[in-house]
Amino acid sequence: MIEVEVAEVELAEVKDDEFWMHHAMNLALKAQDEGEVPVGAVLVLDNQVIGEGWNRSIGRHDPTAHAEIMALRQGGKVVQNYRLIDATLYVTLEPCVMCAGAMIHSRIRRVVYGAADAKTGAAGSLIDVLRHPGMNHQVEITSGIMADACSEQLSAFFRYRRSQKKALRLAQRVAENGAPPEE
Ligand SMILES: [Zn+2]
Repeated sequence: MIEVEVAEVELAEVKDDEFWMHHAMNLALKAQDEGEVPVGAVLVLDNQVIGEGWNRSIGRHDPTAHAEIMALRQGGKVVQNYRLIDATLYVTLEPCVMCAGAMIHSRIRRVVYGAADAKTGAAGSLIDVLRHPGMNHQVEITSGIMADACSEQLSAFFRYRRSQKKALRLAQRVAENGAPPEE
C-alpha cells in the first residue's frame, strides 16, 4: 500500500517537471526569435513562476546574460532576497560553470535540465560543479526531462543557421561572379 502511494507521488512530480520544462522551451523560442541560441529557463517556487529567462548574450552584449542568470535575477527581485531557498530552476540545456555557480550562490533547492551539454555542461557532462563534495550548498539535480525535445530545438536552430550562412555565401558568389551555370 505504501509503495503504491510513493509511485503516485513520483508520477505527479514527473508530470510537473515536464509541464515546467515545456514552459522553459517556450521561453527558449523568444531567444531564437532574437537570433540567440535557444535556451530558456523558468524559476518556480511553491508551484508559481518567480523568474523567467532566455539567452540574451548577443543582444545585450553581455556574456552573463544566460537564461538561468536572467531567471535568477528576476526571482531575487520578486522575493526580495538574493537567496532563493526551496526554488527549482528548469532549464532546457545543462547549465554552464557560471550558471552552476550562480545556482549555488542563490541556494536554490533543485535544478532540472533537458539536454545534456558535452562541451560546457557543469552538472556532470564536462565538469560537475554542483555535486562537488566540498561545495557549501548542494543543489539537487534532475536531468533528461524532455531531453530529446530540448536537444532537437537546439539542433534545429543550428541547422537553420548553417543553411542561412550557406544561402548568404551563395548569394555573395552570385553577386560577384554571376549566376552559376545550370546543371
Ligand atoms: Zn550558463
